Amino acid sequence: MTEKFDVIIVGAGPGGSAAAYSLSKMGFNALIVERGKYPGAKNVMGGRMYAHALNRLIPGFWKEAPIERMVTREKLTFLCNEASVTLDFLDGEFREPPNSFTILRAKFDQWFANKAVEAGATLVPNIRVDDLLWREKRVTGIIAGEDKIEANVVIAADGAVSLMAEKAGLKKFEVKQFALGMKEIIELPEKTIEDRFNLAHEEGAAQLFVGQCTKEIPGGGFIYTNRTSLSMGIVVYIDRLIEKKIDSHKIIREFNENPVVAKLIEGGKIQEYSAHVIPETSRSGLFTNGMLVVGDAGSLVINSGITLRGMDMAIASGAAAAEAVKNAMGKNDFSKECLSYYEDLLRKDFVLKDIATFKKASEFLQNDRLYTLYPEIACRFFHKLWAVDGAKKRAFDELLEGTKGNRTNMILDVLKGLRAL
Ligand SMILES: Cc1cc2nc3c(=O)[nH]c(=O)nc-3n(C[C@H](O)[C@H](O)[C@H](O)COP(=O)(O)OP(=O)(O)OC[C@H]3O[C@@H](n4cnc5c(N)ncnc54)[C@H](O)[C@@H]3O)c2cc1C
Repeated sequence: MTEKFDVIIVGAGPGGSAAAYSLSKMGFNALIVERGKYPGAKNVMGGRMYAHALNRLIPGFWKEAPIERMVTREKLTFLCNEASVTLDFLDGEFREPPNSFTILRAKFDQWFANKAVEAGATLVPNIRVDDLLWREKRVTGIIAGEDKIEANVVIAADGAVSLMAEKAGLKKFEVKQFALGMKEIIELPEKTIEDRFNLAHEEGAAQLFVGQCTKEIPGGGFIYTNRTSLSMGIVVYIDRLIEKKIDSHKIIREFNENPVVAKLIEGGKIQEYSAHVIPETSRSGLFTNGMLVVGDAGSLVINSGITLRGMDMAIASGAAAAEAVKNAMGKNDFSKECLSYYEDLLRKDFVLKDIATFKKASEFLQNDRLYTLYPEIACRFFHKLWAVDGAKKRAFDELLEGTKGNRTNMILDVLKGLRAL
């Protein structure tokens, strides 16, 4: 088969569908090729999407999209072996406009790709793109099995381990650039979820866990409440996992067994388990002759420790790629000089601005004290505050003792933390 499209998009995740939707609305002939049986079939996600980027593209999308719950409650838990300290933040302002929603990707990705199809895009699922077509140092299409399909521009939206970006020479992979995300979906009745997380009907919670759960490896745990299930899991830096020779399955098993977590998931049935990498420290080229790279494929992800943002970044970069294609089509110029307009758009928008703002976060999050010393100090301090056992020590004495030999580091860490966040 030899055909020609204005644009070919590789991958029907949020980045690919945002690009296809925007391009189709502009009247361009867009083809999306997805290796999964359907969009979302291959996607793993902790389950929370910040709403702003999609709201720009499809205002009020939550009235029609398959969202699970609107997140109004944020919790941060420091875990020790026998104790835990939780910060519980409930904010009515997260309702109007909605700040974030929990979603299940298998449903959400299908809905979003269908929006692109309704707008005029062609979606071909169950086909893996194997390679790029080149002419005179310019990408001119894709190769999928026996098929060669041509386009003026190819948009690589094929996720964190982007074969397209690698084939175009825009990305080289190293283990230390990635974190490993492991996720389970645990089924529970709607009412049980609302009672356990203290939620109003249809509202949701996002709970992050720091400390004992990652076995002294930088990373953290999460639980997001869906309508009738919990998305829960662990994210850890892969190089440290290998260095410490820790079995990733053991980490997630022990997370489930931690007394705080076990209470929240008690009686639940595991529906699904999956694992995927998350780009952490890598940066890749975002354009070349005839090609643009969006979302995870371009490492456009922010992990600030408190927020993990990949979906809003993918959607905004997909929409920016569509604008850059429109500009190139208008000039009939698909050179990298013309397509560099894409990076200008990302710089003007929040995507590259926020990445620059949070660039110190990744380095800060590698600090072992965040996962060992500080949760321990917090738990010991609150233990002393509430324990009545006849011993004379005050909570403040416990704090002084716990921080002995580490106070300079602590002050420096607080300063670094404030800068990183
Ligand atoms: C455990 C975990 C938890 C996360 N939690 C959050 C969170 O709470 N909030 C958040 O915003 N982000 C989160 N993320 C990150 C988020 O999932 C990604 O940033 C986001 O999915 C990126 O979207 P994308 O469209 O760029 O890529 P993807 O969603 O990865 O989509 C890529 C698509 O391309 C397809 N594809 C790949 N290769 C080919 C090929 N050769 N041919 C055809 N198709 C191909 C794939 O099947 C897939 O459908 C999490 C990630 C993980 C792993």
